[in-house]
Amino acid sequence: MSDLSKLCIHSITTKPLGLREAAGKYASAGVSAISVWQDAVAAYGENHKATGEMIRSEGIDVACYVRGGFFTALEGSGRLKAIDENKRIIDEAAEIGAPLVVLVCGATPGQSLFESRKQITEGIAESVKHAAAAGIKLGIEPLHPMYADSRSAVNTMTQANAICDEVGHPNLGITVDVFHTWWDDRLEAELKIAGEKNRIFSFHICDWKNLPEDMLNDRGLMGEGVIDIPQIRKWVNESGFTGYEEVEIFSNRYWAMDQDEYLEKIKEAYLATK
Ligand code: ZN
Repeated sequence: MSDLSKLCIHSITTKPLGLREAAGKYASAGVSAISVWQDAVAAYGENHKATGEMIRSEGIDVACYVRGGFFTALEGSGRLKAIDENKRIIDEAAEIGAPLVVLVCGATPGQSLFESRKQITEGIAESVKHAAAAGIKLGIEPLHPMYADSRSAVNTMTQANAICDEVGHPNLGITVDVFHTWWDDRLEAELKIAGEKNRIFSFHICDWKNLPEDMLNDRGLMGEGVIDIPQIRKWVNESGFTGYEEVEIFSNRYWAMDQDEYLEKIKEAYLATK
């Protein structure tokens, strides 16, 4: 099987490549879409509209703009600032022509995860109206609990579904990443619930290596680790998701290798775990 029509790659996955280079190489490799990280746009140096046009002119689609969120703060002024920042990110996504902004929701040392989740819910409720007006969707990405100290107080699909229920807006849904959710015994059930509510907005793939060397930057290629990707993909698809499968890998090891060879490895790994 060599169908790459659902294959999307995050710009950070091939971090050494510039954005134009990445878009061009992905398109030549048959990859269908790119998810664009803010740092890649900044390094490219053009405005967001021109950046989106460049990517599409290279022949690929923009799946997502990464990333908003970080709604939590000890002070109310910090939380208001975060909402403004998210509105700006939403506007940038609209200019690029990305339909979705992924949210890494935030967590603040010094306050409880319960308080952080309350602040996240409030921040999202404020931001999602702006997103809807701009034609943008927001995807809450639950992060693995090892990041609950400072990156996200939303660590499970159950919590993400609860926030979506509370905010109750059709432009708010969930980004499912196998790296963050594979261990959760509620995963299948919560995907089903999310599917019934049409809120699975995107799907990220990579692998969890057995004994990773780094908590952040040692993700594996699909098939290289312990995650049952075909099983999770099946649940995601059975929940009605038909969008891109986005390869998102932070890896000091892969960033150090020749990126053309790496791109071939990504394709092979993707097809081998389909
Ligand atoms: Zn992800």
